[in-house]
Amino acid sequence: MADKDCIFCKIANGEMPSATIYENSDFRVILDVSPASRGHALIIPKEHFKDIFDIDAMTAGKMFSLATEVARAMKSVLKCDGLNIVQNNGIIAGQTVFHLHLHLIPRYEGDGVKLGWEQKESVPTELQELAKQIRKKI
Ligand code: 5GP
Ligand code: ZN
Repeated sequence: MADKDCIFCKIANGEMPSATIYENSDFRVILDVSPASRGHALIIPKEHFKDIFDIDAMTAGKMFSLATEVARAMKSVLKCDGLNIVQNNGIIAGQTVFHLHLHLIPRYEGDGVKLGWEQKESVPTELQELAKQIRKKI
């Protein structure tokens, strides 16, 4: 259900204007108004899901399936050298609009876009134990 105070509900459902790349009954794909790089796109479900913890697996699957088609179209038009898919959940993870969306960020040689993290050490036994605990919840 749409949230009346949510900007992405309004954009996804066509109540607010956007540079729309594609639309079907479940999603709207738009260009980001403050792009990280030329052609930065967002796939937005029309239904209001707050984040990855809120969305059903079927819709999430359709969203990623659509991402494959959009990414190919973007590569063909933008002639980008690569593309990052980013999806932020929670303030700590950089989410600023609390209506789930997938970022498709085209990458170009020398574009200076910053993504990523510093790699840390791990302990194999701790990895095994953590994997076991999470596995039990799936
Ligand atoms: P987040 O930080 O939540 O993962 O990403 C939100 C994204 O939405 C940002 O990249 C931001 O530039 C974009 N954005 C926020 N408001 C609007 C808007 O009104 N129109 C468009 N096209 N993009 C928006
Ligand atoms: Zn919303």
